[in-house]
Amino acid sequence: MKPPSLESLSTIQADGSRRFVHPADVRGPLTKARRLVAWLLIAFYAALPWIRVGGHPAVFLDVQTRRFHFMGLVLATQDLWIGFFLITGLAFGLFYLTALFGRLWCGWACPYTVLLEHLYRRIERWVDGDASARRRLDQAPLNARNLIRRLIKHSLYLLLSAAIAHLFLSYFVSIGQLYRMMQGPPREHLQAFGVVLFLTAALYFCFSWFREQFCIILCPYGRLQSALTDEHSIVIGYDRRRGEPRGKAGSTDGACVDCRRCVQVCPTGIDIRNGLQLECIGCAACVDACDEVMVKLKRPPGLVRYASQMALQGGRTRWLRPRILLYSIMLMAGLVALGLSLQRISPLHVAAVRMVGAPFYVADGQLRNQFLLRVINKRHEAMNYRIALEPLAGSPLPASLKASGTTDPLHLDALGETQVPIIFSLPVADFKPALRLRLRVDEENGKVGNSSRVLELLGPDPNLQTHGPLDAKSFIR
Ligand code: SF4
Ligand code: SF4
Repeated sequence: MKPPSLESLSTIQADGSRRFVHPADVRGPLTKARRLVAWLLIAFYAALPWIRVGGHPAVFLDVQTRRFHFMGLVLATQDLWIGFFLITGLAFGLFYLTALFGRLWCGWACPYTVLLEHLYRRIERWVDGDASARRRLDQAPLNARNLIRRLIKHSLYLLLSAAIAHLFLSYFVSIGQLYRMMQGPPREHLQAFGVVLFLTAALYFCFSWFREQFCIILCPYGRLQSALTDEHSIVIGYDRRRGEPRGKAGSTDGACVDCRRCVQVCPTGIDIRNGLQLECIGCAACVDACDEVMVKLKRPPGLVRYASQMALQGGRTRWLRPRILLYSIMLMAGLVALGLSLQRISPLHVAAVRMVGAPFYVADGQLRNQFLLRVINKRHEAMNYRIALEPLAGSPLPASLKASGTTDPLHLDALGETQVPIIFSLPVADFKPALRLRLRVDEENGKVGNSSRVLELLGPDPNLQTHGPLDAKSFIR
């Protein structure tokens, strides 16, 4: 088999078929640290749906009631615009991190890497053995022993995929609801069942077969790397000046003894000595592998290490550079925008729409405008609200203006919502065009939150003598 080259993807063989990568096990401080980070992240993802803040899971995208709970904060569908700032803020954060430290996210924290390296590969090692045993198994005929082994491995993959799919679903339906669903027959919750089936199949496909191909050819973040990094970004690199020419242990050649240990442990099957490649996910396995070799040879470690390409060529890493400044500004702007938007979130949402039908009615000398007021309580407790009318500057309210549906306090359960018809009426003679007012909803129960909407009342054109059949000309805005 041809070794990986720069001309082709490391996982494609000369005949175009897939080269299935079986990375060798590696030990070392970075591997230990990565494992610790991975287990902390797995514990965090698994625990989040169980942690409750304000009576709801800490992170809960409640699709049924269309509420998003985040650490006690409740967002309604109408607040989804904040998602724009959240996503752009996260993206800018990732740009910044990548420009400084390359694919640190990919190697250390990406859920895909974490699950693949620390759960699925662990199962594989446990059932099939180390890398050389796995390679032998790949070539071996499918006898009864191998078949049983594969059945066990793939059953475990499927079980794990189903568990992750259920955990994922619990972020959308809550753990309690998920438990109830699991106890009932699938026909009672077909949609959720379909989602779990699809996710289980997708996870099984990705982690049992597709594996590193996702990082190499599908992940959009991976594709952005070359645009986000430069020669001063800290990446994993091979010190060519120290390593070349490659020689044997004990020779006076460069430090690299061409043992290929760094290639054997690489989960994407590349040779880091060929320089920075798009397949490198920055997992640092080759750093630990090479350091182990160097220590055995009594040579200083760090032949493969975290360094900028500039430093590896003997230059000085520049931390402050235009790209970093630009990303810092973008990140700060994103964070400020996110902070400001979060401040604008009100504990209640108020919307008012004109009721369908004619924009206004005139009967018995009275002009009527009808609105539908929608109030959403985003607090985790039942609330009473008071509805008030306020004049706007330059638009005094006529004393004769009445509004039905605004006198009694409005009661809403915790996280509840309601719609109230509000009918404004006043004598036609008191109507003046562009009659605008503010409809304010104030919280009671000792809270100080409020939300309001500006409404405009419509009526007949006062220059017309009669209020005959209404046509377009009669409407005044
Ligand atoms: S080259 Fe090294 S850091 Fe990059 S993916 Fe391979 S083992 Fe991980
Ligand atoms: S592990 Fe180190 S010494 Fe061995 S081939 Fe890789 S770079 Fe050279």
